Amino acid sequence: MINRREIIKRLSAMPLLGGLLDTSAPVQSVLPAPVMASRNLVKELGIRTFINAAGTYTAMTGSLMEDDVMDTILTSSKEFMMLDDVQTKVGEKIAALTHAESAVVTAGCFSAMTLGLAGVLTGMDQKKVEQLPHLAGTGMKSEVIAQKAHNIGYSHALTNTGCTIIQVETLADVEKAINEKTALLWFLNIQSDKGQITHQQWVDLGKKHNIPTMIDIAADVPPVENLWKFNDMGFDLVCVSGGKAMRGPQSAGLLMGKKDIIAAARLSMPPRGSTIGRGMKVNKEEILGMYVALEKFVAMDHQKEWKMWEDRAAHIANTAKSVNGVTVETFAPELGNHTPTLRVAWATDKVKLTPKALQEQLRNGNPSIEVVGEPNGISMTTWMLKPGQEKIVATRLKEELTKASV
Ligand SMILES: *Cc1c(COP(=O)(O)O)cnc(C)c1O
Repeated sequence: MINRREIIKRLSAMPLLGGLLDTSAPVQSVLPAPVMASRNLVKELGIRTFINAAGTYTAMTGSLMEDDVMDTILTSSKEFMMLDDVQTKVGEKIAALTHAESAVVTAGCFSAMTLGLAGVLTGMDQKKVEQLPHLAGTGMKSEVIAQKAHNIGYSHALTNTGCTIIQVETLADVEKAINEKTALLWFLNIQSDKGQITHQQWVDLGKKHNIPTMIDIAADVPPVENLWKFNDMGFDLVCVSGGKAMRGPQSAGLLMGKKDIIAAARLSMPPRGSTIGRGMKVNKEEILGMYVALEKFVAMDHQKEWKMWEDRAAHIANTAKSVNGVTVETFAPELGNHTPTLRVAWATDKVKLTPKALQEQLRNGNPSIEVVGEPNGISMTTWMLKPGQEKIVATRLKEELTKASV
């Protein structure tokens, strides 16, 4: 048996092989498959990889999929299936896991919101599906009510349907704002401590006025219970990201909720064209991969996981605070990215370093490390680290802090 390196060496010594391959039997009979797998595109294209001590940021490609998910993606890539069939079968399983009547895999939480609202607007009317996002003169509703504090960037997912956001602050505001054009009451979980109206009040308002309610819980698992809590509470639609803590494909998310609305939402989804959702395609591999990631996430020992994240944070904290003038604090945000988070700060007369400079030095070091820059220090999470990387982060952090010590 010759090994992979030997094959590559021989290949490079055979300039004619490319030509031979074109005319000969299938590649496998000439070359063993591992030669293909050995191609390192990251190296070839010069893409920077890094230790992710920052978190589940889209810009940093979210999270890493686990082997079971990748196996599912690879295996399912070898067969054709009907896209609708995959969505229906997977949707039933996801719905059962999340206490929802129905579910579908979308192109992220953002697309779940657009498609969920599309379903609300069109119902099963094919003509209306094709009219979106042009609502005028169609008879479709055109307003979404949201609390002012919730109306941050992600509400663009809703205005993509042609709807306008109507901002409210109090319960009385909502009563006043509701009219025959109101399509949806939208709630953003990550800002729920900023608005005056609670989850339950929001659901009750929807039921009272017979208007569907939707909640965005994109970055709000863990706790795992959030996957069913808001379905149980009575929200008609629940939207979550698949590629954050659940470690599904980064381009996947879940739309869960009422059977009739999900069925209507699917009219705006691929494979159907002439829809606002045609560009939000999720392939079978990702749909199935997302299901496996969700299943694993629901079944996993979350307490053990939390303890591991805490231990890692403690190791980094203890190493950093051994530097004179450095202070550390560990906390877990209640809303959004609920995970042990470490904040490192320093007395600027003892450590001559700006947060930005430290961030840059960690980024430009070897290995490269990403952390979050803050006004008075840096912050980190440990849930996206691979086992053992906390030691590297701790060492590098101490190195840079020590170097800047006076
Ligand atoms: C990440 C995020 C989204 C977008 O989710 P994707 O899965 O990336 O589409 C929407 N809302 C909030 C609050 C988020 O944090």
